[in-house]
Amino acid sequence: MNLTFSDEDRVFQRGVRDWFAANTPEVLRRKVESGQMLTRDEIVHWQRRLDEQGFLVVGWPKEHGGPGWTPTQRYLYDLERAAANAPVGLSMGVIMLGPVLMAFGSDAQKARYLPRIRRCEDWWCQGYSEPGAGSDLASLATTAVSDGDDYVINGSKIWTTYAHWATHMFCLVRTANTGKKQEGISFLLIEMDRPGIEVRPIVSIDGEHHLNQVFFTDLRVPRSNLVGQEGQGWEIAKYLLTHERTSIAGVAESKAAMANLLRSAAERRWAGTRLIDQPGMAARLARAEIDLTALEYTNLRVLSSTAAGKAPGPESSLLKLMGTAVQQTLSELALDIGAEQAWPWHPEGALAEAAHVHSMERYAFLRACTIYGGSDEVQKTVLAKSMLAGAAR
Ligand SMILES: Cc1cc2nc3c(=O)[nH]c(=O)nc-3n(C[C@H](O)[C@H](O)[C@H](O)COP(=O)(O)OP(=O)(O)OC[C@H]3O[C@@H](n4cnc5c(N)ncnc54)[C@H](O)[C@@H]3O)c2cc1C
Repeated sequence: MNLTFSDEDRVFQRGVRDWFAANTPEVLRRKVESGQMLTRDEIVHWQRRLDEQGFLVVGWPKEHGGPGWTPTQRYLYDLERAAANAPVGLSMGVIMLGPVLMAFGSDAQKARYLPRIRRCEDWWCQGYSEPGAGSDLASLATTAVSDGDDYVINGSKIWTTYAHWATHMFCLVRTANTGKKQEGISFLLIEMDRPGIEVRPIVSIDGEHHLNQVFFTDLRVPRSNLVGQEGQGWEIAKYLLTHERTSIAGVAESKAAMANLLRSAAERRWAGTRLIDQPGMAARLARAEIDLTALEYTNLRVLSSTAAGKAPGPESSLLKLMGTAVQQTLSELALDIGAEQAWPWHPEGALAEAAHVHSMERYAFLRACTIYGGSDEVQKTVLAKSMLAGAAR
């Protein structure tokens, strides 16, 4: 199958390519290419720069500040941004909470939060998982008890990415214990500077601090922070997860990583031969490209059904499953191609500029991508159920 784009789309694509070539700061480009973590300030500045250009909330409708692009243009935009090794915008506010507020939020919540997400004035984290509720999320036990105009919250969230940088959390809480466990869950917005919140760091296997455990002790949150109706949290959570899983697939990022790997494999030699010409390496690179191409076409199918007005459903599980497998394969190839450059014990600064200098950390962190956003086993169960339902119809 050959993909063809209209002349208008090609002009659009060139415009995006030129903008990223001229505007991506070199320091960010290097960090993205080598898989290094960005600082909070770097992310905020870059996100604001994208917003000024109309390049941040590219999936949002025009009435909320989106550019009104077609799905094809969004796809081309993503490819060009990633190919330029430019950082992606923050996903928690833009990709997850934004669409939820548009679908379920009150007018006041939309008016207050959507512009602040766009301008990166608020940094959102996701409070879903708990020590006793990960795959079985509906077992969550953090309680929100109604008291006058407030909810009083007690409990704990875990694995909360960037909670230490966040100003706000969107959070699933238990407001009732009657009926099915899914029925008593509500979706609440929490300001992180309220008394009664403690954030404790969890350092992950890559040696970085992305993750946290968050404790709530008699935390008071106004009832006006409830999104949708009390008890509607499970429906909202599932809506958000389809957006999360589709974005975790990271097709554009993987295409850019593949291009970087092919370039490196053509530059680096072993026993006098370019790595790309060695049969074992060539076969692995070819296999990875085939899997990536299959992923890309699956992504395009999902995009075209989204363009036809269909919300992403179980396809998002398929994308997450395939996309994260590809990410892990590419991170393994980066270790093997980078060889001595990829190992973290080189003398301080000696290889600071090398393309693969952070490959080991990235490889280690990406072991988690088949867990976060819902583990592989959970995605397979979603797919199996949808296939069985399809067969029964
Ligand atoms: C790097 C990282 C970042 C994260 N960021 C966030 C975040 O920002 N916010 C947030 O809320 N959460 C976050 N999470 C949590 C993540 O969503 C959970 O880790 C995930 O849902 C799995 O839950 P669990 O860790 O409790 O594992 P468990 O649910 O205990 O699962 C353990 C193992 O058992 C398997 N398993 C469980 N149930 C079944 C079943 N029914 N059938 C077959 N196999 C099963 C799982 O697949 C897994 O292999 C993050 C996790 C990681 C690793």
